[in-house]
Amino acid sequence: MTTPARKRSLQPSTLRIGHRYRTSRLNGPYDALIIGSGIGGLTTAALLSELGWRVAVLEQHYTAGGATHSYERNGYEWDVGVHYIGDMGGATMSRRLMDFLTQGKVQWAPMDAHYDRFFIGDRTYDAVAGSAEFRDNLLAHFPREAAAIDRYLELLREVARGMRTFTLDRTLPAWAATLAGPILRRRLPRTFQRTTWEVLSELTSDPELIAVLTGQWGDLGLPPKRSSFVMQAMIARHYMHGGFYPVGGAWRIGEAILPRIRAAGGEVFTYARVDEVLLRDGKVSGVRMADGHVIDCRVVISDAGAINTFTKLLPSQVVQEHGYDNLLRTVKPSIGHLGVYIGLRGTAQDLGLPKTNYWIYPGGNDYDGAIDRFLQDPHGPFPVVYLSFPSAKDPSFERRHPGRSTIEIVAPAPYEIFEQWAGSTWGKRGDDYDALKQSYGERLLEHLYDKVPQVRGRVDYWEVSTPLSMRHFCGYGRGELYGLDHDPERFRQDWLRPRTRIKGLWLTGQDVMSCGVAGAMMGGMASAAAIAGPRRMVPMMKRIFG
Ligand SMILES: Cc1cc2nc3c(=O)[nH]c(=O)nc-3n(C[C@H](O)[C@H](O)[C@H](O)COP(=O)(O)OP(=O)(O)OC[C@H]3O[C@@H](n4cnc5c(N)ncnc54)[C@H](O)[C@@H]3O)c2cc1C
Repeated sequence: MTTPARKRSLQPSTLRIGHRYRTSRLNGPYDALIIGSGIGGLTTAALLSELGWRVAVLEQHYTAGGATHSYERNGYEWDVGVHYIGDMGGATMSRRLMDFLTQGKVQWAPMDAHYDRFFIGDRTYDAVAGSAEFRDNLLAHFPREAAAIDRYLELLREVARGMRTFTLDRTLPAWAATLAGPILRRRLPRTFQRTTWEVLSELTSDPELIAVLTGQWGDLGLPPKRSSFVMQAMIARHYMHGGFYPVGGAWRIGEAILPRIRAAGGEVFTYARVDEVLLRDGKVSGVRMADGHVIDCRVVISDAGAINTFTKLLPSQVVQEHGYDNLLRTVKPSIGHLGVYIGLRGTAQDLGLPKTNYWIYPGGNDYDGAIDRFLQDPHGPFPVVYLSFPSAKDPSFERRHPGRSTIEIVAPAPYEIFEQWAGSTWGKRGDDYDALKQSYGERLLEHLYDKVPQVRGRVDYWEVSTPLSMRHFCGYGRGELYGLDHDPERFRQDWLRPRTRIKGLWLTGQDVMSCGVAGAMMGGMASAAAIAGPRRMVPMMKRIFG
């Protein structure tokens, strides 16, 4: 028997960042308007603010942060899109940029050295922090695969070098991109064109080793036969030195960035849905808000994702004129997900909760086969179930929520399962929707009880999110988990860059670079660099990166 969900209070969360939008609170003129306050939008806003721009960030949700927001309910607190972030343990580029944006106000708690655990069928493997430890641990399991493992590590370094070229290409001014872009793109390693499976199956014929190397595929949203090797390599390197958790919860990131934006006279407005980007004589002239109010501005930066920007925020005739209707056919929205947010009586220590994420692969090492079967029959076995224990990772949790703890479960879920309720209202979608959610939630809880049996009977509250929740709170039309899919085709799209073909309109966030907090933050920096230009940006980058 699973513990039934206690009746939830629909009181909104108190973990809020930003000011509620009202036209009377606008204090323009602004130098730039940013649509969406995910980490990408906030990064661009903070960097431009640092250069003296007055920026208004317009966020449709009740709080800023996008996928980095946290929420509270029934005395518990959960993050939505942050379970662990890599590269936060030393003076890496990501850490330096994060510290600059947050003025060093966010502390990072290391997870266990064995930060990810993969349950592949009846076998268990760990991801271990540190390059030498990573190699030794793999060799212990696969002693005959030393050459494959070493070559894999070399390829990770090759992709990292390629990413510098890739990023440079994406931030070049229009004239330079025309001249130098093709040359730069020719210099990218061949792995940029290939799937993870294509690359790894040349290194080894052992499917179990490939499964262990790609055990984090949920972090990029695609299994090895579909994902770009570039993304596989970026995730592998990102977590090579372990996982870290923001002390106080993910929402602390946005909260700590906000003062930078305000210091330059800018603001982050919540409940501020943008309906349309307005153009005059082919150039951006401002935005129309959902309440009909027009805010004038010649620079608009969209963190709402490429699909939203070109299908919802611009007149279709303009989109066609610039060829974006055809370009959008080359990319796909990523899959949706189910989330189970669990509150338990008892501290993480009492309950023995680990600082390790669990990745459960009930179908064994054929990840692509498992997802194919699940897409055909979404009521069949889950291809992957991810368990995360945020209260165990956060050293401040017990002080803030004495005697309590939290667990989150994530599993992929196609949007189509829930599409029929897309027109209904959040919180009132009907009994059949609630029953479907309940049944998915109960199945996912059984995976938790299987791996962490001591929590059975200790669950005080749980609730389930679906792709419709992602659609409602983060604005993704098909509830996509990570914006655009990270397949090889996506990395060939040189139009996925900050500068759009529409004068005054820019993109930022995960679709410009890659998903992940660090990926979207780097997208935010690339966008600020492209907008401000090297003369203004280079000195600031010297301050950030030394
Ligand atoms: C379940 C889940 C787990 C994840 N786990 C991790 C993890 O452990 N580690 C990690 O590094 N990454 C993780 N990620 C990925 C990471 O959170 C995202 O890649 C990143 O935060 C995306 O940032 P972004 O700025 O591009 O977009 P988002 O955070 O998606 O922000 C876009 C914002 O635009 C707003 N918006 C959209 N349309 C409009 C409009 N018309 N008007 C106004 N506002 C609008 C949305 O409301 C939203 O706030 C996870 C994501 C999810 C969903």
